[in-house]
Amino acid sequence: MRKIKLYDTYEGKVREFTPLVEGEVSIYYCGPTVYNYVHVGNLRPVLVFDLLNRVLRECGYKVHMISNYTDIDDKIIKKALEENKTEKEISEFYTKAYEDVLSGLNIIPLEYHPKVSDYIPQIVDFISTILDKGHAYKTPSGDVNFSTEDDENYGSLSKVDLSKLRTGYRIETKDDKKSPLDFALWKLTDDKGIKFDTKLGLGRPGWHTECVVMINSYFKKPLIDIHGGGFDLKFPHHENEMAQSWAYSGTNLANYWMHVGFLNMNGDKMSKSLGNVVLANDALNKFGGNVLRQFFLTTYYRSPINYTDEAMQTASEEVDKYQRLLTKFEAKAFLEDFKYEGTIDSDSYNQFLDYLADDLNVANAITVLSTVIKKANNALRNPRTSKEELSIIYLTLRKMLEVLGFNFEKFKGNDELKKIYSSYLDAKSNKDFALSDELRKVLMEKGVL
Ligand code: AMP
Ligand code: ZN
Repeated sequence: MRKIKLYDTYEGKVREFTPLVEGEVSIYYCGPTVYNYVHVGNLRPVLVFDLLNRVLRECGYKVHMISNYTDIDDKIIKKALEENKTEKEISEFYTKAYEDVLSGLNIIPLEYHPKVSDYIPQIVDFISTILDKGHAYKTPSGDVNFSTEDDENYGSLSKVDLSKLRTGYRIETKDDKKSPLDFALWKLTDDKGIKFDTKLGLGRPGWHTECVVMINSYFKKPLIDIHGGGFDLKFPHHENEMAQSWAYSGTNLANYWMHVGFLNMNGDKMSKSLGNVVLANDALNKFGGNVLRQFFLTTYYRSPINYTDEAMQTASEEVDKYQRLLTKFEAKAFLEDFKYEGTIDSDSYNQFLDYLADDLNVANAITVLSTVIKKANNALRNPRTSKEELSIIYLTLRKMLEVLGFNFEKFKGNDELKKIYSSYLDAKSNKDFALSDELRKVLMEKGVL
């Protein structure tokens, strides 16, 4: 197996990846709360985990990747009340919109998308066990809170300064909490929103429990290989997930915690609450999935990235360059009646994949791709290049672009084009320069020369 290295937030360093089960990888990343359209920032983790999925597959692993939909949440309830709809109608509508975005981005379909609403009994059992084990308590008003005080690991994932947080919070009146860092597992309610009548009382689960329960239920084990999300999820969400996992089953929830940097716009994290958002759908309609992918993937996934017109323009030019090159290769094979088949340039490809396996170093992988592109242009320009050489270069190029997740249009030829091409070749061999120039112009306009 190829050596894979990943940055692990918990250990705070790049570590060699060793799976729990040989040849398999279990991955969960936190998905959207489905109460409105996602913005471009939300796409970054999606694209990074899609790349990880592809790289692991290329390295020979069987990948089990899942991501949830949070379909029980105060924001969904608020929207449902505003629009006089049920929570289910709201969440189904925005789940569908999200799935359209995923397919527009050419995301490999995940193995499963668990929804919170399908796991209420498991969530209630999970919380009850934590209560029984003494890691949670009932407040005077009947809610269940997780007790962070006796968790010696608390804070070890996000490395937040707990003493600062404690004193910071103390100013507020956190009525029912024993410690300001404690968080709600189950909240009683008699409001108008969706609620569940359970042994914990009529209420709803807190946000931090669902992922742990869905991971345990789906993978049928308390520890998986990789858990991830955006940087903002480290604290409190993932810290709280991890605390519950220790409390419930005495293990860390994942062996590797991966966090994706922010997409910023005008100097701030792109986010609904700041109002500096571009909706994913609008960006997709304007640029297409390939351009968004190129834009995101060329910056190391843990570094911040700025959404600007110039950056999108650059990404768009790169993608055009790839598409034009593929079209020229495909048109050549079509017009000259041959097929690209056989092997790829395995030296280049192995180096390309080694870079990707090194904590998704796309920038280095792209330098290898650029060398292949240079070779490709030279090969096309040189009339003496053999079909075998063209084949190797074309198939290597296609393969690399595929591993990066691009989805390029395949060239579709027609008889008319074939006629123009053969007249052009005739004119050239007859030294009819006026005609051959004219036909070349037509062929160039069609992008095949
Ligand atoms: P949310 O709906 O805010 O919970 O976000 C869903 C996912 O998108 C989470 O993994 C977030 O970390 C991620 N996310 C939200 N905003 C950004 C952003 N500006 N840049 C990168 N990731 C983001
Ligand atoms: Zn989560």
